[in-house]
Amino acid sequence: MNFSDIGLSKDLLSSIERAKYESPYPIQIEAIPAILQQKDILGLAPTGSGKTAAYILPILQLLLPHEAPRDRQPPVLVLVPTRELAIQVAEVTENFSRFLPRRIKSLAIFGGVSINPQMIKLGGVEILIATPGRLIDLVGRNAVGIGRIQTLVLDEADKMLQMGFREEMDHLLELLPKKKQTLLFSATEDKEVAVLIQELLKDPVRVQVAAEDFTPDLIQQEAYRVSPESKGPFLRQLIQSGDWKQILIFTSSIRTADNLVVKLTKNGIEATAFHGDKSQGARTEALSKFKSGKTRVLVATDLAARGIDIQALPLVINYELPRSPKDYIHRIGRTGRAGSMGQAISLITPEEQHHFKVIQKKMGKWVILVPAEAFGKESMELGEAPSE
Ligand code: AMP
Repeated sequence: MNFSDIGLSKDLLSSIERAKYESPYPIQIEAIPAILQQKDILGLAPTGSGKTAAYILPILQLLLPHEAPRDRQPPVLVLVPTRELAIQVAEVTENFSRFLPRRIKSLAIFGGVSINPQMIKLGGVEILIATPGRLIDLVGRNAVGIGRIQTLVLDEADKMLQMGFREEMDHLLELLPKKKQTLLFSATEDKEVAVLIQELLKDPVRVQVAAEDFTPDLIQQEAYRVSPESKGPFLRQLIQSGDWKQILIFTSSIRTADNLVVKLTKNGIEATAFHGDKSQGARTEALSKFKSGKTRVLVATDLAARGIDIQALPLVINYELPRSPKDYIHRIGRTGRAGSMGQAISLITPEEQHHFKVIQKKMGKWVILVPAEAFGKESMELGEAPSE
């Protein structure tokens, strides 16, 4: 299947070529033609499935024949739960729209940074990407109007509800026109999401990408048994052993992330922390340095790491395990993306061993636990398969 088979015009095809996407992902094959027909969509797909391009490409195509608005009344609104996702969606949009025959202006707005620069940039925006709180703020100041939205996208709708945005969403939905196209994307379809779907979508085309379509198979998982004292030295040994271009390390707390960065730096390994206690500016800078390859090691907590999209990340290390198996899958899903092979290494203390078994059971895939001393040795004979 090619991108040209799913209804995209020449203009979009050349942008896709520049992005080096060779063929559409399953979600794109199903969603793009339906969005072009201006149908409502229910996309049950997590980050990593290619959902952003699945909605941005047809939206750009639908906008192209129209004139850009001169006022502050954008025709497309993408609501997202986090600043990181807002920035990411804006980057994807900008990448695709840069080479179109007419420039389609997009803008990401989110809280945690000063509001004035965002207010200035709102004129003529066609695709507005926003977190709910900041959007309400800007609407309240008459800096932007959402009464002429023709297409509404709710990206990571489940996360928006989990983060307690229901009230803000209701407030915004009231201001939107009744007649519009709505595209709702969610990784899960729990009760609260089901209510939202019922309220918002008319006759939606359901597009589902099963999690197993892109979890563990492209990811080589390894686990090493370490004592709590040897975790740090072993981590350094790991980092220094391979020629991995980039390494993403996960911790379960902000404190561990900060401590780890201090220790790594002391030992001559340049690393940056990425978590919810950092200012928005620091987070954006850390991420862009990491993405551009200036920083080789990023130490992140789960909350902050959601939605990070770094193409072809070669190695993820679980310095500490996450509480939920879902988070584990999400973490290791940062590698082995977009068809490239990745590696995920977990450091397991005796105390974490039981929890690691629970995670593996949920994932339906067993990882051999190897003593740290066996690292780098050819033979894995020392390994021990978990017994149930
Ligand atoms: P998303 O789920 O939107 O966060 O996308 C996950 C990753 O897949 C991003 O790095 C995209 O650039 C990449 N991607 C999306 N669609 C394609 C495609 N058709 N071919 C190759 N890479 C893609």
